Amino acid sequence: MPGANKIACIFLGAPGSGKGTQAKKLESKLGMPHISTGDMLRQEIDRASQLGLQVKSVLASGALVDDSLMLEVLRARLTQNDTQKGFILDGYPRNLPQAKALENLLTGMGITRVQVLYLSLAQDALVQRLVGRLSCPKCGTVFHKEFNKPKVSDTCDNCGHSPLQHRKDDSEDTAVQRLGIFDVQTKPLIEYYKQKNLLHEVNAAQDMDKVESELLRALKVKGK
Ligand code: ADP
Ligand code: AMP
Repeated sequence: MPGANKIACIFLGAPGSGKGTQAKKLESKLGMPHISTGDMLRQEIDRASQLGLQVKSVLASGALVDDSLMLEVLRARLTQNDTQKGFILDGYPRNLPQAKALENLLTGMGITRVQVLYLSLAQDALVQRLVGRLSCPKCGTVFHKEFNKPKVSDTCDNCGHSPLQHRKDDSEDTAVQRLGIFDVQTKPLIEYYKQKNLLHEVNAAQDMDKVESELLRALKVKGK
């Protein structure tokens, strides 16, 4: 089966827990692309594609996009050439139906090696991280106004683009709303993957390098 050697690495965690930051650090080390469903949707919105127009107001409100639409977006992405070794999923699944749909998708692709890394962080720290987040609209690298400043003010360290953007859905109100959705819809996945013995929890309150080394250690141990 072509998928037998692939690893599906799922980063689970609330918005702001550091999934995107860590996935970007790890993608070249692991040779697996960082697949962020949020980034994919934002690209569609920027291109004003049909899908982008369809989901624009949903993202602005902080609600979740329809499950069947998300599954089609993901299915198309997982079959691209850069996923030979596997992929790092960030932002999917976000509820139980999506977790089950993903399981079916992976089974259909012959992928049996699945690892779930849960980045845990308390609510007040999550809000602080979201309201101070700055994102590069060109390459997607994220920074923070206080905790992870770019080397040159308002300029992306990775691609040199300026200015960096503050996401509209990172306003305090919408951030709190998104964290509420995480608690109700996504948190049950922690128990779901624990029961399947796939979950590894990492304390995301630590500095970025420490979080990265713990993730790498967990992936090596479980990847065998
Ligand atoms: P997610 O992808 O889970 O929504 P991000 O990776 O975008 O989260 O991180 C959210 C914010 O927190 C960003 O501004 C990022 O720079 C910052 N951040 C990420 N990891 C850490 C960390 N370990 N310590 C402090 N700030 C962090
Ligand atoms: P993120 O970049 O992961 O914070 O996602 C930003 C927004 O994109 C979310 O608030 C949702 O509106 C939408 N989104 C991203 N991934 C999903 C998903 N798996 N299911 C539904 N909506 C999603």
